[in-house]
Amino acid sequence: MGLTIDLQAIVANWQALAARAPAARAGAVVKADAYGLGAAKVAPALYAAGARDFYVALASEGRVLRPLLGGDARIFVFGGHMPGDDLTGLIPLLNSPEQFFRDRTLRRGEPFGIQLDSGMNRLGMEAAEWGAIRAEALAAEPSLIMSHLACADEPDHPANAAQLAAFRAMTDGTGVPRGLSATGGILLGPDYHFETVRPGVGLYGGLPFAEARPVVTLSLPVIQIRDVAAGEFVGYGATWTTDRPRRIATVNAGYADGLHRALTGSGACLWSDGHPAPIVGRVSMDLITADVTDLPRPPDVLEALNAQQTVDDLADRAGTIGYEILTSLGARYPRRYV
Ligand SMILES: *Cc1c(COP(=O)(O)O)cnc(C)c1O
Repeated sequence: MGLTIDLQAIVANWQALAARAPAARAGAVVKADAYGLGAAKVAPALYAAGARDFYVALASEGRVLRPLLGGDARIFVFGGHMPGDDLTGLIPLLNSPEQFFRDRTLRRGEPFGIQLDSGMNRLGMEAAEWGAIRAEALAAEPSLIMSHLACADEPDHPANAAQLAAFRAMTDGTGVPRGLSATGGILLGPDYHFETVRPGVGLYGGLPFAEARPVVTLSLPVIQIRDVAAGEFVGYGATWTTDRPRRIATVNAGYADGLHRALTGSGACLWSDGHPAPIVGRVSMDLITADVTDLPRPPDVLEALNAQQTVDDLADRAGTIGYEILTSLGARYPRRYV
């Protein structure tokens, strides 16, 4: 019952992605609580499997992880060095000359990295900003120079080659370890690998790593099953009406638990021993109704995520991406790590 997270599958996905970039040092992106799956469990499991580079969005996320990992683990912070950050034992990826000077004033001698903008225009120094501090930054021996691809999940998108060229132009000859690729970039091939790679979503079973092992199973307890006569409605707004007598199961989970209200009428199903039970009526905050008429036996539990319905399947139904399904998974489910 609840959310089952397969740590062995996460480790296997990390090993499989690392094997796609054999010349690079593979880290793991564990921001946003390891995409909602629990960084305090995921990061130590990956450390035990040999991962030594971890990436978070915020210094506060790094603070939580630092005591859970060995001293040889490096924890990089994408957000860089913001005023008031406690970066002890962490490695900020400095995003602007302002961050660079703040960091070098407050943390002289401590490790740092540089994040460059190669075209995404989200985070990182522009070529001119980098040029202005480059000599001073290189003299201080950064641990890593990295950038991020905007379209790596679309292998034919021209932005990939353009960003690769821009990144090379800014970093060739620096002699500093480089990193450009997350999950999608790893799959683009060796030109994109450099010395480090940093997969995120692929570790957690999501696209664009199509060969990923599924990581999450979400089993929901059935509270009630009722027989509904033809012509009656189910749920808020009376938006769904039975065409014939139907058996309806109500499970204890809803949009407050990350099962988006947009799943209403989407064709998404709940599952019992491999058999689908279509979600009918509106998804409410704590409850979902499913049509179990055609199941071989009345279910005690119904699954929302399993091998038949992955995070990306559910995301398609809800009009979003697997990343958002994962990071929305609520805190109300009992969690079990296997
Ligand atoms: C989130 C993120 C990643 C991981 O991306 P995935 O697509 O989940 O593999 C890597 N690098 C940066 C800068 C990120 O923000």
